[in-house]
Amino acid sequence: MLDADVIVVGGGNAGFTAAHAAAMRGRKVLLLEKGAADMAGGNSYYTAGATRISHAGLDDIADFVEPDKRHSVTEVPPYPAAEYTADLEKVTEGRNDSALTEVLVSESQQTLRWLNSLGLKYRLMYERQAYERPDGTFLFWGGLHVGNVGGGEGLIADHTRVAAELGYEVRYGQQVQELVYDGGKVTGVRVAQPDGTLAELRSESVVLAAGGFESSPDWRRQHLGKGWENAKVRGTPYNTGDLISAALAVGAGRGGDWNTCHSVQWDAFTAQNESNRELTNRLTRQSYPLGIIVNNEGKRFLDEGADFRNYTYAKYGKEILAQPGSTAYQIFDATLRPMLRTEEYEMPGISVETADTIEELAAKIKVPAEDLAKTVADYNGSIDRSITFDPTVKDGRKADVEPVKSNWAAPLETGPFYAYGVTCGITFTFGGIKSDTHGRVLNDDGGHIGGLYVCGEMLGGLFSANYPGGSGLAAGSVFGRRAGTLA
Ligand SMILES: Cc1cc2nc3c(=O)[nH]c(=O)nc-3n(C[C@H](O)[C@H](O)[C@H](O)COP(=O)(O)OP(=O)(O)OC[C@H]3O[C@@H](n4cnc5c(N)ncnc54)[C@H](O)[C@@H]3O)c2cc1C
Repeated sequence: MLDADVIVVGGGNAGFTAAHAAAMRGRKVLLLEKGAADMAGGNSYYTAGATRISHAGLDDIADFVEPDKRHSVTEVPPYPAAEYTADLEKVTEGRNDSALTEVLVSESQQTLRWLNSLGLKYRLMYERQAYERPDGTFLFWGGLHVGNVGGGEGLIADHTRVAAELGYEVRYGQQVQELVYDGGKVTGVRVAQPDGTLAELRSESVVLAAGGFESSPDWRRQHLGKGWENAKVRGTPYNTGDLISAALAVGAGRGGDWNTCHSVQWDAFTAQNESNRELTNRLTRQSYPLGIIVNNEGKRFLDEGADFRNYTYAKYGKEILAQPGSTAYQIFDATLRPMLRTEEYEMPGISVETADTIEELAAKIKVPAEDLAKTVADYNGSIDRSITFDPTVKDGRKADVEPVKSNWAAPLETGPFYAYGVTCGITFTFGGIKSDTHGRVLNDDGGHIGGLYVCGEMLGGLFSANYPGGSGLAAGSVFGRRAGTLA
C-alpha cells in the first residue's frame, strides 16, 4: 500500500513547484518538510523573491506583473534569452552545464506565468533594481526585474495556499534520512522518529528538493575549505546535505561544482545575524558599487564597480572571508548615503559607525587612521571626473588606483561619513546531485536511477564560483516544474 504516488522532500520554492506540477497531473502527493510549520519555507522564505526571467521588455510581461502607476514612466530593457545565457557563461567562466542552462533560459518566463496562473503574484522590483532618473522616469538595470509580491515570505505563503487548493498534504517536522531502494529503483523514504527509529513511507517516485549543504559547518570546511566553517548562514539552518548523502548512498552521481558557493556581504556585528526570520534578507549589504570597501588595515582589496551588483555580489562574500578577521567596512559619504537600498541600510540594529571626518571614522572602526585616510585620498584623487556619474548604466567612471574601481567612482569628500561592518554570509552551495534536464537523477555512468528526481539547490551543474542574481528561484521553479511533471 503506497502512502502517496509522489513524495516530495523539502518545502522550499523548488519542492512546492514540483509538488504543484505533480498534483496538477492528478498524482497523490505528499510533501515532507524538515522544519516545523513556523520554521518552514527553506532558504526560499529568506529571499527577496527576485526572479531572473528572459523577456522582451515591459510590454511582454505587463500582463502578469501586478499593475503599478509607475509603469507608464518606466523603461525595462529587454532581457533576451541569448543575454541570459551569456550572463551565466560569463559569471561561471563557462562552467555552467549548457543543457540545463538552455532549459532554464528558455522556460523561465513561461514557468513564472504558469505559477502566476496558480495564484503566485509577481511585480516589478523598483526598490532594488531600478533607479529614478532626474526627470521622474525609472530605468531598470542588471537583467533582473521581476520578483514575488511579499518577497520570500509572500512566496512561501502563496505556495502553501496553492498546495491547500490543490488538495495535497504538507507534513512538517519530517526529517527524511534515507531513501528506500528496491530492485534498482527508489520506492520511498525513511523519516527520523522521536525515539531514534526510522519510519518508512512508500511511493512510486521521490522528488528531492532538500537544498544544499550550506548549513553544515563540517561539510563547508570539508568541501569549500578551511575558514568556511566561520561563514554566517543567511537562510535556513536545515540544509545540511541530508538528502545529498542519501542520494549518493543509492548510487546518484555528484553534479556541479562542490568547491564553490554563493556568498555575500552580510551584517558583521549585529546580534542574531544567522537564519534570522524577522530580518531575513535585510542583513545583506548590496549598495557597495556606489562606495568603497576597506579591510581592517584600511585598504581596498577588490573592484567594487567591476559590474552591476547582480554579477559580482555572489562572489564577494568569499573575498571578505579571506580578509584579516573575515570582516570589512563599506564606506560612503553623505552624498551617496541617500542612494543606498533603504530596506538594507535602514535595518533596525544595523552595524554602522558615522563620523564627520575619515580620521574619526577610522578611530570608531579601529582601523589605522593614516592608512584609511590615504586609501580615501588616493581613491578620490584618481577619479576621472570628466565622465558623468550614472548608476543606471556601466558609466565607465573609473578610479585609476590599485585595485581599480571600474565604474561609479564618486569621491568620498562630504561628511558625515558612514562605515557599515560586513562579513561573509553563505547563501547556498553550488555542488549537488547529477540529473538530466527533466530532473531524473543520474548515476556516474549517466544511467537513470528509477523513481528518483531532483530540483532546486540540490541539483548541481548550473553555477560555479559566481551566479547571476535571481537565477536560484528561477531554476527551482523551472526544474521543479519539470521534475514534478514527470514524477
Ligand atoms: C537570504 C537569502 C536571500 C536570497 N535571495 C534570493 C533572491 O532574491 N532570488 C533568488 O533567485 N534566490 C535567492 N536566494 C537563493 C534561493 O534561496 C535559492 O536559490 C532557492 O530558494 C532554493 O530553493 P530550494 O527549494 O532549492 O531550497 P530551499 O528553499 O532551501 O528548500 C529546501 C527545503 O528542504 C528542507 N530539508 C532539508 N533537509 C531535509 C530533510 N532531511 N528532510 C526534509 N526536508 C529537508 C529544508 O528545511 C528546506 O525547507 C536567497 C537565499 C537566501 C538565503
